[in-house]
Amino acid sequence: MGFDGFVIHHSVCEQKPKTESWDFIIKQDSSVIASPVLKDSELIHICLEGDFNKDYDAMNLEQKMQLFTASKIISELSRLYSISPLFLFPHSETCPGAYFPWNVLVIYPVDGYH
Ligand SMILES: [Zn+2]
Repeated sequence: MGFDGFVIHHSVCEQKPKTESWDFIIKQDSSVIASPVLKDSELIHICLEGDFNKDYDAMNLEQKMQLFTASKIISELSRLYSISPLFLFPHSETCPGAYFPWNVLVIYPVDGYH
């Protein structure tokens, strides 16, 4: 079984029902709620609580911490399941939105894969 990558949501996502399709929810205090089982066999769904459709510079400290927490989860899961941490996909045009700072989420593998 292999995953194709990660789908990023924010909690103002229009999708309903919401929580049932997310594997990881990163709360505003950066605590993480992890689903006991991954629900999608191809993609891992990560949701950031709040509205993340804005420039990184316009985000508050809590949101920046949430993004940092997400980047750690992504790098750990990508190692665990051998997924490229660069395979990040938006859920839709508005989730997490055109202004979402994708570059902040990516921790480039320092040593590469060898
Ligand atoms: Zn969504």
